[in-house]
Amino acid sequence: MLEELNVPILGLSECSGFMSTDVNDYDKLLEKAYSELPEKRVAKERLEIPLPEIMIQGNKTIIKNFEAITNKLRRAPRHVGKYLAKELATSFVLEGGKLVLNSKLNDRIINDKLKSYMDIYLYCPQCKLPDTRLEEVERGIFVMVCEACGARSSVPKV
Ligand SMILES: [Zn+2]
Repeated sequence: MLEELNVPILGLSECSGFMSTDVNDYDKLLEKAYSELPEKRVAKERLEIPLPEIMIQGNKTIIKNFEAITNKLRRAPRHVGKYLAKELATSFVLEGGKLVLNSKLNDRIINDKLKSYMDIYLYCPQCKLPDTRLEEVERGIFVMVCEACGARSSVPKV
């Protein structure tokens, strides 16, 4: 799951080069690696979501790379689309990997809403990591299950 998100498992790449050194050196190197880690670690854990490519066409706003975004988020395009449309007070269609919103919207508001989607439906409220999935417990009712810390959190219905 971690690989899918392109979030490298902590320290793996740093450690792989140390395997051939003796144990004491390894410990020292590991200590050093960890002491240098905090900042790096935060950066790695942040999910790299592609910036939405937004296009206005008549009275419609199209997110061209919507599928790439939802793939990264590991969320159903329909779920994300429904949330965005609701928040932006419009309706939507999914069209060949694109999201078509039936009104003219600016980039900033779409980015904001995408971020709030992630805050609500992606990041675990317990450990703050994005390694979560939504589990449908009843039709349209989801709980967020965290693969990192195991927390189950209720999320609002879209
Ligand atoms: Zn968690």
